[in-house]
Amino acid sequence: MKLTRREFLKVTGIASATLFLDLGFDLSPVEAQARELKIKYAQETRTICPYCGCGCGIIVHTRDGKVINTEGDPNHPINQGSLCSKGMALYQVAVNERRMKKPLYRAPGSDKWEEKDWDWVLDRIAQKVKETRDATFITQENGITANRTDAIACLGGAALDNEECYLLTKLMRSLGIVYLEHQARI
Ligand code: SF4
Repeated sequence: MKLTRREFLKVTGIASATLFLDLGFDLSPVEAQARELKIKYAQETRTICPYCGCGCGIIVHTRDGKVINTEGDPNHPINQGSLCSKGMALYQVAVNERRMKKPLYRAPGSDKWEEKDWDWVLDRIAQKVKETRDATFITQENGITANRTDAIACLGGAALDNEECYLLTKLMRSLGIVYLEHQARI
């Protein structure tokens, strides 16, 4: 019988796996050791999954400033080490050649995106917020002081921690913004 290279690898792979199973080999210690080696000497940082309101704990391993592994935090009270498929794929947020690293801007009426730096983008956002607030600010309503704008809303995300939410809310309230929501309201 003539085997192609692919068929040969398939047959020998299945045969080895069957042999290990038949002889009662437990591969979990080998897997655990491979994992240990992968993250040996790596810096360990604890963080929260940015995707949804469950707020699962994640450990990020970095070496030389680069993310080499992410996994569920076994000591986190919410997920106790487990992650859903999105959380498990978090590694790809950092290590992904398709990840966008610069803000893109499309001018009104244009069909092209332009790369901009963060200073330009933040100035532009601040300018638009100021313009919109000034144009829509309501000082009085039915004879009562209102000091608010209904033209701007703020949406927070699950990646914000308590302190960031506190500061964001303070900033929005100081601008007179009343529509505050959070993506993690589930
Ligand atoms: S791991 Fe899944 S369930 Fe947990 S916070 Fe992330 S997206 Fe939500």
